[in-house]
Amino acid sequence: MRVLITGGSGFIGSHLSDAYLERGDEVFIIDDLSTGSFDNIAHLKKHPRFHYTIDSISNQPALAELVDQCDAIFHLAAAVGVKLIVESPVRTIETNVHGTEVVLSLANKKKKKVLVASTSEVYGLSAEVPFREDGNLVMGATTKGRWSYACSKAIDEFLALAYWKEKKMPTVVVRLFNTVGPRQTGQYGMVIPTFVKQALAGRQITVYGDGQQTRCFGYVGDVVGALIKLMDHEDAVGQVFNIGSSEEVTILELANRVKKLTGSESEITFVPYDEAYEEGFEDMPRRVPDISKINALVGFQPKMTLDGILQSVIRFYTEQSPIARNPE
Ligand code: UDP
Repeated sequence: MRVLITGGSGFIGSHLSDAYLERGDEVFIIDDLSTGSFDNIAHLKKHPRFHYTIDSISNQPALAELVDQCDAIFHLAAAVGVKLIVESPVRTIETNVHGTEVVLSLANKKKKKVLVASTSEVYGLSAEVPFREDGNLVMGATTKGRWSYACSKAIDEFLALAYWKEKKMPTVVVRLFNTVGPRQTGQYGMVIPTFVKQALAGRQITVYGDGQQTRCFGYVGDVVGALIKLMDHEDAVGQVFNIGSSEEVTILELANRVKKLTGSESEITFVPYDEAYEEGFEDMPRRVPDISKINALVGFQPKMTLDGILQSVIRFYTEQSPIARNPE
């Protein structure tokens, strides 16, 4: 199989590349290195079945050539990370909406199968926890930057589903819940790499709000396995799937676990949301996926525990030089 991964040098894209290469397949990636990093794919540079293009997906001729060469496409390229989204809403909206338009319209010319990565952010302020794929999406006001991410991704979902319904181009939509593991950077606000780096450096561990908000953290290896199974399954087409873990933890408990597992003396401090992001910032109090749909179709069940995930991230940052670890 020849797969194209947009955003292939990102955190998830690079792990997906590893998995396909291990299966014996041929991998093409395109990435503009905006939030991805060349370090993530440096170990694949000389692999005979790995081909990388450093370019934007809005460069249509470059993308068209890659689309033509491949059997299937994972569209992972997007603006991600709540901090980045709040700080750069124009970039978020343009990358997420325009980028997906380009990928889907090129794929449609040869009816290539496309899996579009969406996000659990689309559930927004919904209180119907655990979130089901057929549940309502509840967005906040447009004056609050965070919701531009959810809305741009919801448009991506509509567009992907519309291509299947109207043009019979096979598409699959996945809503990724908090996904973590080695190679994820804390640069765009993600909590686990941030806490681990803070703990290892003996700096304060910054818990936003009162720390009672909850999340479920899925291991990147489990998530990648689910993506491949969905791509392989004919009945996934035209559907939306949650992917994530159902082990729920408060952010305060997470900070304590990171502290314990690193043996750190770091102090845990509470930072108000207004200070951490922007005035009037809204967080979701709970985010838990219902994963019965993907479980029923492809037998998906996350294997890695939260402690296992934390240990893998701690190992990743411990193996990096102190210089690489310290700067924020
Ligand atoms: N968070 C935190 N301290 C940090 C970074 C994040 O307390 O240094 C919180 C954040 O407010 C949210 C949770 O951790 O409630 C998860 O944040 P992340 O950005 O990783 O993902 P989100 O679930 O917000 O998309």
